Amino acid sequence: MKLEVGVLPEGAPNSLAGRIAGMREKIAGAARKHGRDPSSIRLVGVTKEQPRELVLNAIEAGLGDIGENYLQEARPKYADLMACKHFLGHVQTNKARAIVEVFDVVQSIDRLEAGRAIGRASRTLGKRMRALVQINISPSERFGLDPAAAPAFAALLREEEGLDIDGVMAIGPNTSDRGVIRRAFEQAARTFERVGGAILSIGMSDDYEEAIACGSTMVRIGTAIFGVRGYHSE
Ligand SMILES: *Cc1c(COP(=O)(O)O)cnc(C)c1O
Repeated sequence: MKLEVGVLPEGAPNSLAGRIAGMREKIAGAARKHGRDPSSIRLVGVTKEQPRELVLNAIEAGLGDIGENYLQEARPKYADLMACKHFLGHVQTNKARAIVEVFDVVQSIDRLEAGRAIGRASRTLGKRMRALVQINISPSERFGLDPAAAPAFAALLREEEGLDIDGVMAIGPNTSDRGVIRRAFEQAARTFERVGGAILSIGMSDDYEEAIACGSTMVRIGTAIFGVRGYHSE
């Protein structure tokens, strides 16, 4: 079944494959503009509030990484999908086992108990989980660790078997002030340098350019690929 993609501003391609290709071109353009190798930036398609059929079509169109914020929403939607699945939401310790069952990467570890619960579940299930430390770089964000605390936090969780702490994730400030966004992402990049690992997950539909300028290795794009959320929900 082919579903129409959600409404986007005028000029956006109307096929999902076209939007994914267009997004890859924009990422590559931003990378080159800032003297970076386009292949050093991974695209995660954020599928929250989008139907499973659309996610299947996106994977068919070559999208290899997908992400969700809610376990309950992802569990049926992501069943048996051939893609790398990223958990982006708040980790409740009593859901750790189910999170490890459904996902391959947890980007949102901001409490020791959460990281340890994911580690424990990984060992129980015989799975190695990749995880990122979520830091808070925006006054409008509820979650995320104080960036200054991130290196010691990562060191503690690296003692946890079954868990690979592989970098940092952050959500940019909710503002149209490009300078504010840029400074927040620079702080994320400095924190990433101290934490270590391979992944700096910053940048969404409205701020991926600044994120790439600041060294993002992973952008998480929802709206610019799938259209406005809620379009399919009736
Ligand atoms: C929703 C969401 C995204 C994608 O946001 P868009 O603005 O639609 O691209 C990325 N990361 C997280 C953590 C999100 O919750």
